[in-house]
Amino acid sequence: MTSGRTAEPWDVIVVGAGLAGLACARDLHALGLRVRVLEAGDRVGGRVCTDLVEGCVVDRGFQVFNTAYPQVRGRLPLRDLRLRPFTPGFLMHDGGLRLRFADPRRAPGQALSGLARGLAGPRDLAALAALTGRDALAPAVLVRRAPDVSTRRALAAAGFSDGFVERFFRPFLSGVFLEDDLVTSGRFFHLVWRSMARGTLCLPAAGIGAVPEQLASALPPDTVARESPVRALTDDGVLDHDGRTVPARAVVVATDAATAARLLPGVVVPPYRSVTTLYHLAPRSPLGEPTLLTDVRRRFANSVVLSEVHPGYAPRGYALVATSVLGSDGRDREEAVREALAECYDADTAGWELLTVRTVAAALPAMEPPLPLSRRTRVTAGRYVCGDHRATGSLQGALASGARAAREVAADLG
Ligand SMILES: Cc1cc2nc3c(=O)[nH]c(=O)nc-3n(C[C@H](O)[C@H](O)[C@H](O)COP(=O)(O)OP(=O)(O)OC[C@H]3O[C@@H](n4cnc5c(N)ncnc54)[C@H](O)[C@@H]3O)c2cc1C
Repeated sequence: MTSGRTAEPWDVIVVGAGLAGLACARDLHALGLRVRVLEAGDRVGGRVCTDLVEGCVVDRGFQVFNTAYPQVRGRLPLRDLRLRPFTPGFLMHDGGLRLRFADPRRAPGQALSGLARGLAGPRDLAALAALTGRDALAPAVLVRRAPDVSTRRALAAAGFSDGFVERFFRPFLSGVFLEDDLVTSGRFFHLVWRSMARGTLCLPAAGIGAVPEQLASALPPDTVARESPVRALTDDGVLDHDGRTVPARAVVVATDAATAARLLPGVVVPPYRSVTTLYHLAPRSPLGEPTLLTDVRRRFANSVVLSEVHPGYAPRGYALVATSVLGSDGRDREEAVREALAECYDADTAGWELLTVRTVAAALPAMEPPLPLSRRTRVTAGRYVCGDHRATGSLQGALASGARAAREVAADLG
């Protein structure tokens, strides 16, 4: 497998066709370099992946698409994804009440309506307005430059009471960080809050897997070789699954961190966070709006009626509900989750069918402070590493890391 009939080496081999690898390949191709992507799986996208299950659109773990991510805006023709938005803000279930949080600038009528009913005092409301305004409007570089502390400490420094952090931020952020002790980097928190304030949470009509499919479709056909795991890196390129050397001038490893460390000794492997998403089919929608629901008691991280976002996610006459819980043992907790959903949606969930369960053991790298938002990709001469574990655990982080690798490779190859 070489770059053509002349058996010339490729300019660059990218190992892995997740978002980082695809972004890297696209940028290198745009610079005129001959690029080959070797992907172990049978499709592109890595952790961003969608299956069709009994007529339902099921992402491999619930995730959302944020239009404010700079990398997303810069490289994806959003119209083709046929995005549909969630309602701004989210609902929180607290002791029998569903309270709404919405950004005052977007939904002035609803903003903080529920929060004002006992969840937040004047000090917390003022701190929330100040935080949201500052994160939305200030240049991102200020967040990058500020010293990094845990999200819990960052929230205390922003003036929030312990009670408000516990009942408002902790449940909501557990679904974003995939941990619920608020030990994740405050720097990352500010970027998440910023992107929520500036962008719109959406889902593509065909599921989140449409995003990498769209990225891959902009590469020349046959750039990506599927079912082609790389065994090792050699002096000249890589060793493919048949034990043949595929020569290349540069190799970019865009896999998960553990595989990257095996291929490129010395790469640091962070701990990973796990999540399980339970998909239920309900005979009717338990909530007539496309809104994220969180639970102050943290029996689940978040739940959403996907068919309210896109009716096509479920067969006609059914509602598809996705509920994410932290950890890998979500399936074992299905009964308890179903009970919590009955309370939070105020619905009879006894007749809901458990359609399928998706567990992702290594879903997000732990992002503890101090978190560098971007890391150099060059490991040794001609060998590079990228992926969300080198930036932030997000679509934006993976794409940005891939883009950085492409810049460094291009500079080195001249
Ligand atoms: C359940 C879940 C929910 C999430 N929610 C959100 C969200 O709401 N918003 C958000 O912004 N982000 C979210 N994320 C994070 C985001 O999806 C990831 O940060 C991002 O997709 C990581 O992309 P990546 O390219 O770095 O890695 P990966 O997607 O892991 O890609 C690595 C690729 O390398 C391939 N590979 C591995 N080994 C080899 C080998 N030896 N040879 C060849 N190929 C190999 C793999 O098959 C894979 O395709 C979520 C992630 C999960 C799992």
